[in-house]
Amino acid sequence: MRDKEKKKAYDQTYRAAYRAAHREKINANMRVYHATHREELNARNRAYRIVHREEINAQKCTYREGRREQFKAANRAYYTAHQEELQAYARARYVTHREEIKAKNHTYAVAMRLQHRAAVLAHYGGTCACCGETTSEFLAIDHINGGGSRHRKEVIRGSDQAAWLIKHGFPDGFRLLCHNCNMARGYYGYCPHEKQAAIGMATRDLASIQLSVGQI
Ligand SMILES: [Zn+2]
Ligand SMILES: [Zn+2]
Repeated sequence: MRDKEKKKAYDQTYRAAYRAAHREKINANMRVYHATHREELNARNRAYRIVHREEINAQKCTYREGRREQFKAANRAYYTAHQEELQAYARARYVTHREEIKAKNHTYAVAMRLQHRAAVLAHYGGTCACCGETTSEFLAIDHINGGGSRHRKEVIRGSDQAAWLIKHGFPDGFRLLCHNCNMARGYYGYCPHEKQAAIGMATRDLASIQLSVGQI
């Protein structure tokens, strides 16, 4: 057992020394082998990647995790160094794949907008501040102090409003209104719900006045 271990250690040292001494020769041999067996090696690699896809992806994720900044910097450097080439490639690809690229971009934009919207709705309470509507499709983001359309035009400028709110850390001064309550405020300057609430209050007040009058 001991001898076996000794032999293993010796072999390892011997191999490492051999590799160090004959590096050039080994590399040249490898290059020749790769050149002559390219198809076979590629097929083997492809098969390996298919079988071990999950494992490889997980490994890649873990590897990238701690090196995010490093990867970003490398990507930026690559882009700067190959900018013209990459732009020419993208232009050429856009000509031949126009429809496909447009469809993909559209799908991505819709998915991102929904994701941003969901985050914003969740942050601002998920219900209409006036009537309590919770169906997300009916909800709109409202500026509490008005000026919503000007803000959208001048500050957000056509981009995703929800993305803007996320980017600015969900600022105060916004709330959710359902489209009914929002539209009514826009057209009439008030929401009928407020009126109904006011009537309700007035009725209650009247009832209590009558009650107190009755007591007199
Ligand atoms: Zn409402
Ligand atoms: Zn309302």
